[in-house]
Parts: sequence; C-alpha cells; structure tokens
Amino acid sequence: MQKEQSQLDKILSAALIQIVDQRPLYYSILTRIPKFFRNDLNRPCALGIDQNTGRLSILLNAPVLTAASVDHLQVVLEHLLFHILAPQHHEDRIKEGESFHLACDLIINQNISQIRDRPNAFSKKSSVLGKLLTPQALTGLHGFSAESLASTSVYELWPLLKKENHLPDLESYQTLDETDFQLHNFVSISRWQKLAPGNDILLQNQVKHTVTAAMLELHRLGKGPGRLPGNLSKYITAILAESQIDYSSLLQKFVGRAPANHKQRTWTRTNRKYPNLIKGSIRNAKENPRMLVIMDTSGSMWDDSTLKKVLAEIDKIYRVCPDLWVIGGDVVEKFRYFLKKGAFTPSPRELFGGGGTDLQFGFNAAKELDVDGTIVLTDGAIPTFDTHKIETTFVIVPEGIAIPGYDNIL
Ligand SMILES: [Zn+2]
Repeated sequence: MQKEQSQLDKILSAALIQIVDQRPLYYSILTRIPKFFRNDLNRPCALGIDQNTGRLSILLNAPVLTAASVDHLQVVLEHLLFHILAPQHHEDRIKEGESFHLACDLIINQNISQIRDRPNAFSKKSSVLGKLLTPQALTGLHGFSAESLASTSVYELWPLLKKENHLPDLESYQTLDETDFQLHNFVSISRWQKLAPGNDILLQNQVKHTVTAAMLELHRLGKGPGRLPGNLSKYITAILAESQIDYSSLLQKFVGRAPANHKQRTWTRTNRKYPNLIKGSIRNAKENPRMLVIMDTSGSMWDDSTLKKVLAEIDKIYRVCPDLWVIGGDVVEKFRYFLKKGAFTPSPRELFGGGGTDLQFGFNAAKELDVDGTIVLTDGAIPTFDTHKIETTFVIVPEGIAIPGYDNIL
C-alpha cells in the first residue's frame, strides 16, 4: 500500500516536472490544487469539491494511473486544468450533460499538443485510459475539420454533435474525465450546483485566486507563463485585471465604526469648489458607510496593468458602496470625484502626476469630508502620514509593500 502510494507520488512529480518545462503557468496552477489518488473512482480522473475544506480538487484513479506512463498523466493533468480554467462551462455541463461535455473535451484536447499533434500516441491499444476523444474524431462531421476546432467555441460545436447522426459512436467515446461520480467526501463538480445553488461563484473565486497567485509567483521568479492558447491568455488577462477583493465584507468593518463617528459629526461648510457635494446628505450610516478611496497616482503606479487593476478596484468598491468619494494625487490632490453624482472618469493628465509621493492630502480630505472610513490604493511606497483616527485599510497593488501597523489587503 505504501509502496503503491510512493509510486503514485513519483509519477505525479514526474508529470509535473514535464509540465514545468513546457508551461510554467500550468505547473504553477496545478501545484496549487489539491490532488487525491482514489481507489474507488470509476473514471480515470475527475474534478470534485472536497466537502471538508470546500476546495476544488483533482481526483485521480489510483489503479489506472499506477499502470499509466508519465506522458499519460501529463495529458490527464493538462486536460483537467483546462476544465478548471473554463468555469463558465460548469453550469452548462450540468444542464446539457454528456454531449456538452464531449464538445468541451474535444476543444480541450485540441489545446493539448500531445493529443493534437500525435493522434496515434494515444490510441486505444496504447492507452490505459481507454479511448481519448481526439480532435480527429470530428473527421466525419459534415463541414468540419479538426483544424476548425481551434476557432470554435463549445457552444458552436455542441449543437453540431447533437444533430449529426452519422457519428453514432461519439457518445461511446470514453473521455479523459467525467461529469459525475459518487465518492465519499467529494462532491462532483457537476452536482455542485444542485447541492448548493449559487456556489459556482465560490468555485470561480477559487479559480481566480489560484490563477492570480500562480501569475504572481511566475512574475517574482522572472518567468513567463509559457506558450498558451490565445483564448486562455485572454481569459487570464481578464482575471488579472479583475478585482479579487470582497469589499462587501470589508465594508462591515466601517459600518461597525460608524455610530461612534457620528456622535461628533459636524458638517463642514459647503465647499466653494464642489458646492453640491456634502451638505445635508442624510443617510442610514449603519447600512451604508460613506467611504473615501485615496488613489496613489505617483510614478510607480503608472504601469498599464497596475493602473487597470486600480481602476477595477474602484469600480468594484463603488458597486457595493454607492456613497463613495475618490480622491487621487501624488503629493497634492489632483482630482476629486463624488461617485453618487456621476462616473469616475479622470483624465490621463490627472492620473499621471509628477514625481514623489505623500498621501497626506488624502487623509486630510477624509477628515474634511467626515467619512466613515478610508481605503487607500497604493504600492505602499509612501512616507508617514496621519489618518486623523479615521479607520483606514490599505489595498496594496501587486509587487507593493504593506503599511506596518494598519490593515492591509495584499
Ligand atoms: Zn473532460
């Protein structure tokens, strides 16, 4: 038993080492997802949710993979990785079942070079995994070639597969993984929604966190992701630009503080420059804190991906906090927006300041506006400051450094 386990661990490491050579990003993502060898899995592999931890997991059939080659396991892992990186498909897989999964598998396998380029390498005879659904399975599909797959979405292919009746054996293909299984301690991804409606969002968040962490790791190591299919690159770029922070939970902290602040609230006189902004706005402070975002626009924040990220964070904060000020600058205030009154549309001239950083102007504005809390978007390279005792959280951009003594979200 122990011998079998160490043999399985060995083949798993060998497959991962092969992957790191070719595609560092796949490796980096795969090492972050728990993997379990099971003796009770009736499929070569599957994706499940660990009921104890709620985490997405890769399940591998121990008896099958003991006999598999490292190449096979590599293909299995890459195939699962693509299922993981296409979380938008999960819901459709539940609704449409087998034929949708077949379409997914064909498109996925088209992206795995070992299958795409060497169809015979995984023939029925040589593969302990059974028949793999290779792109060549589409040779008989009217008006379709394996090459067309590269530019086809699963939504286009799936109805074709359903319609064509001269492909009767397509349903009999054993695919690399399956949509459903019953295992102690694990929920099949395809049953995930039945079990907990809406929880596919949780699953997507796990995927996004994993991708972000993997990309950051590669960046730190000075490595690239390796060659990726175009659609995957686009998907990853979109994930990286998106905000990963749960601001609804964060805001609770400021809501709790609100009543104490409010006892001493004294309305500042109307600002001559922004006359409509503060006066007399009565609101339910308990449910809806008034917040200020201070946006650091110093030189180190200008690179394209950092700027995109910061704008995505502001967008996400605004979605859960409609009573929001955004003030930006480097050493002096360059712009001020009250989002209740309109959109956040600073000009490039405002976004790119001079040199230096000193965000004190922002904390002074927080006091002046009498906000319930401040969220600072920065890389952390700032001199000392006085928050005027206003509850403050720092959201540090990738590569940035935390501010000691304060709440930081990295
Ligand atoms: Zn599959």
